Amino acid sequence: MVLIAYRGNKEYWNALENEYLLEIKSQEMERLSNTDVLTGLYNRRYFDEAFDREWKRSGRNNSLLSVILFDIDHFKIINDTFGYQVGDEYLKKTAAALTSVFKRDYDIVARYGGEEFIVLLHGINADDASQLAEKVKQKIESMTIDHREKKVGTTISAGIMCCVPNFNTISDSIISCADQALYIAKQGGRNRVAVYIRNDT
Ligand code: GH3
Ligand code: MG
Ligand code: MG
Repeated sequence: MVLIAYRGNKEYWNALENEYLLEIKSQEMERLSNTDVLTGLYNRRYFDEAFDREWKRSGRNNSLLSVILFDIDHFKIINDTFGYQVGDEYLKKTAAALTSVFKRDYDIVARYGGEEFIVLLHGINADDASQLAEKVKQKIESMTIDHREKKVGTTISAGIMCCVPNFNTISDSIISCADQALYIAKQGGRNRVAVYIRNDT
């Protein structure tokens, strides 16, 4: 009788343990599918999903949403001159610089493409977003990596779009406006931050 109870108990605990291990495994799988392998930041897939959610939430709450697009300047030259591995190291260090500036739990920092990064901020106006982007810009300006007794470094440009989402705007347009601002920053000589200004305001 005691033996049967013991067995039943053991099976119960084994089943519980298996369930727990499965849950941990599925959380780990989900984390991996949301993460950019090289930098450890969120990947674009995760960003797009999160952005869609946050866009709707900010629209409902009538609150500000800012998107900052960062693009490393002349990154191809780093790869071409020092090799892809050095380029990869530079990308990792850039990611660390970004997460050192955007520290709030609900800030989303993701790798958006090769040498492009995207940041989503809540309840922050264009001036504050701009100051944060400047901080990143300065960090990158003074950041180097060592390679064969050489210091390798470049700069970064950023484009910002800030708005309160409403039903007249589509979510894609905020990113495309940030991209237009980034284009202006590049055209203006790089190593700079530009904010998208609406024509109708
Ligand atoms: P710009 O200032 O106009 O942005 O110039 P750029 O050289 O940064 O831009 P371009 O688009 O010409 O080059 C981007 C480079 O980024 C080319 C590509 O090989 C490199 N790249 C993309 N993904 C990776 C990666 O994962 N690792 C490394 N090392 N390089 C990458
Ligand atoms: Mg680019
Ligand atoms: Mg670039």
